[in-house]
Formats: sequence, C-alpha cells, structure tokens
Amino acid sequence: FEFAQLALASALLKAVQAIGYTKMTPVQAQSLPPMLEGRDVIAQARTGSGKTAAFGLGLLSRIEVGLNQVQALVLCPTRELADQVANAIRRLASTTPNLKLLTLTGGRSVGPQLASLAHVPQIVVGTPGRLQDHLRKSTLDLGAIRVLVLDEADRMLDMGFEPAIRGIVSHTPGSRQTLLFSATFPPEIRAVSGWLQRDPLTVTV
Ligand code: AMP
Repeated sequence: FEFAQLALASALLKAVQAIGYTKMTPVQAQSLPPMLEGRDVIAQARTGSGKTAAFGLGLLSRIEVGLNQVQALVLCPTRELADQVANAIRRLASTTPNLKLLTLTGGRSVGPQLASLAHVPQIVVGTPGRLQDHLRKSTLDLGAIRVLVLDEADRMLDMGFEPAIRGIVSHTPGSRQTLLFSATFPPEIRAVSGWLQRDPLTVTV
C-alpha cells in the first residue's frame, strides 16, 4: 500500500517522496484513510511504527494555510518528544508554503513563545503544563482547532497529565477531529477516548 494511493495534497506527497518513504507502515496504512475522511482514530502505536508521519500527514491535510488561526494541536508527554514531533512535521510541511509551526514546552523562556504566538502558527506542538500556562494567560487561542492529537497518551496519563489534558480540551471546539496514539491500551486510555472522541476507529497493529 503506497502513499500515492491516498487522497493526499500533491505538496504532501512530494514531501513524502523527498524524504524517501514509499510504502506505508501498517499504522499509516490503517489510520490514514479514516483520518483523511475526518474520522476520529485511536491507534495503538509504538515508537518506530511511523506514528508521527501518520498523524502528521493527517493534521497537515486539514490545515488551511490562508487562515491565521491555530488549527492543529499536538500534545506530547515530554519536551524531547515535542521537539522530535515538531521536526518530523516540519519535514512533511517543507513543500507547503506559509505554514507556521510553534513548539510550546516548559524549560524554555516564555518571552520568545509570546512573540511567536503573535504571528499565529497554524500548528502548535507542546507539553500539557506549558500549554495550560498560555491558556490561563489567554496568550493561546484554541477556538479554531480542527485537529487535536494526543501522542503517547499512556505516558501522559502515567505522568499525571489527565487534569491538564481535560483543561486544554475544554478550550477546543467540539467539532474537532481527535487522534489518540498510545503504545498500550489500558482501561484508562479507553476511558479518555470515551470522553475525548466521537465514534473513533480503532487501529491495532
Ligand atoms: P515514529 O514511529 O514516528 O517515531 O517513526 C519511526 C521512524 O520511521 C522515523 O525515523 C520515520 O522517519 C520512519 N518512517 C515513518 N514512516 C515511514 C515509512 N512509510 N517508510 C519508511 N520509514 C518511515
């Protein structure tokens, strides 16, 4: 199953080809078609499965570059993962002009983040704590979110981020598409999916 068979924008297909991906990994093959149809997806995916490109292509397909609004938000458990995810999405977005992505994580000074937020990125990748700080100060507006991604959701729950995630989600529209990626599917993840997602398609590999 190849990327060219998907209904991807030609710019995204070009980026995928330039990176050198030809065949989709199992997670990509199973999750991308429903994502591109706008469905919520809950996917069991470990690091190395190609999950980042899966949700990266999914969210990039829903961004409208001409709109100066935060349209996609990716929640990650750690700063390191947020940086990796941001870099992977930037590579996939390299052929899409005028796309802005901002990482909002702790351990970085807030000043430059505020300056970057003033330019309104279409995509934000961040960790729950720092995102909450920005929401409390009203320096981040999530009212136009089209796609919300939880990456390594099981790790975020293990780290005690569920209340923060609930708070962040309450700032996003109910009409959003929600993509939940987790290495494991314990009952707590199913419970989170229950209040976060609408009729999600389950992908296990
Ligand atoms: P991830 O599971 O997102 O951490 O990705 C693991 C690695 O797989 C990364 O180095 C990606 O660049 C690579 N990768 C993702 N999708 C593909 C693909 N379809 N074909 C080959 N490599 C891929």
